[in-house]
Amino acid sequence: MAVIESWGHYPPVFGSKWQYFKGSIPKEHSVLPFGLGRSYGDVCLNTRGTHLVTSTLDSILNLDVENGFLTVQAGVSIKRILSFLSRRNLFLPVVPGTQYVTVGGAIANDIHGKSHHREGSFGNNVSEITLLRSNGEIHNLTNKDGLFRATVGGLGLTGLILSAKLRVIKIPGKTIQQKITNVYGLNEITQGLIEESAAWPYTVAWLDFSRDTIRGILISGAFSDRNSRDPNIKIKFPFQIKIVNKWTINALNLFYYWVKRMRTGNSFIHYQNFFFPLDSIQGWNNAYGKWGLMQWQAVFPKEPKIIECVYKLIREFNEVPSLVVLKDFGDITPNGLLSFPKKGFTLAIDFAVNLNTIRLVDRLNEFIADVGGRIYLAKDSRLKTKTFSKMFNMLDEFIKYKDPYFESDLWRRLVN
Ligand SMILES: Cc1cc2nc3c(=O)[nH]c(=O)nc-3n(C[C@H](O)[C@H](O)[C@H](O)COP(=O)(O)OP(=O)(O)OC[C@H]3O[C@@H](n4cnc5c(N)ncnc54)[C@H](O)[C@@H]3O)c2cc1C
Repeated sequence: MAVIESWGHYPPVFGSKWQYFKGSIPKEHSVLPFGLGRSYGDVCLNTRGTHLVTSTLDSILNLDVENGFLTVQAGVSIKRILSFLSRRNLFLPVVPGTQYVTVGGAIANDIHGKSHHREGSFGNNVSEITLLRSNGEIHNLTNKDGLFRATVGGLGLTGLILSAKLRVIKIPGKTIQQKITNVYGLNEITQGLIEESAAWPYTVAWLDFSRDTIRGILISGAFSDRNSRDPNIKIKFPFQIKIVNKWTINALNLFYYWVKRMRTGNSFIHYQNFFFPLDSIQGWNNAYGKWGLMQWQAVFPKEPKIIECVYKLIREFNEVPSLVVLKDFGDITPNGLLSFPKKGFTLAIDFAVNLNTIRLVDRLNEFIADVGGRIYLAKDSRLKTKTFSKMFNMLDEFIKYKDPYFESDLWRRLVN
């Protein structure tokens, strides 16, 4: 049975209608497709209507090794696809920070990974989409179609994606050669990330915002034919008990920093440990208690001083984020009208929800709009209508393609 709530448990949901998708769109309420609920905010919620759970769309349809394409139904998870592909020395060009995401969810939020500087976002690697509209029409779309460009990054509002044809890449094995570098101060961090991205297919930086000077760890990777140990054993955190607070966050930052520092240099690890480290603790979001967590994620021009302003604002509010991650977005135009990625740095920051962090996120959203940046709607629950339309200039074009029966809490908050 599906539990309808977002990954952040914020905004809270008090009971919600849902049903498994069984081939047609019910008309009595507004509807919203629901994948695995790994979005942090209200993009995956339709509390005034019905959620259509897509786990019934669970087939891998065709693998075309010669031309490098895989066709799957939209409810198949990235985890299942990677397990299927990696056995055949194949992989997806773009994967997010968790495997528990469906293909429908990956397209609807046009997700990105550690490879954006080389591969763009998920939608750049989708060649065809089959979409069911509420009037019963089924559209076979390619990236030349306006409805395709509205559906990629279309927040589940253009219809229900039934299946998609995805590009796949060849890999030498399941192991990643990983390089860890520790860096100090914003110039070294940002310059280092840019240089690593020029040399490696996968890059990310972890930042420590709990100190007077920001320090970080750069993590770069590439597939290798070497052997590595099996993925980490999974542990479970099943109960909603708040253990995230300033003391545990400081301890966690210190622990993470020194563990990574001790592993500086090159090593070989399983792809699951490289791409999805958080998946080894199932239900880690419960550690934020019943108020939940918010992830604030923005993209902005590649200027270290913007990161410094974000850091200063967080300190002004006397908050310490539990996770800060920086990625380098390349100059690859996304396929979606409402896609998040654009050339720049993207910063993702986790906060435990309380009145102070809500006010802080509102302030950060205003700041990012002023510097020409954009907020990631897959993580958002606080943006306001005016700031939203300033950030997404293709909104009017998108509205032409929206399906009248498809609604979400995010859409009602930002547009209606
Ligand atoms: C630990 C963690 C790490 C993450 N790391 C990243 C990352 O590195 N990069 C990144 O970009 N994102 C990341 N995310 C966010 C996640 O990738 C997205 O929110 C993704 O869209 C979730 O997919 P889902 O299947 O859970 O969809 P849901 O969250 O259930 O839904 C997301 C949206 O997709 C729509 N949708 C779902 N299925 C369909 C369908 N069949 N047809 C039409 N619309 C559909 C829904 O209506 C909704 O609007 C992360 C999330 C977590 C929890």
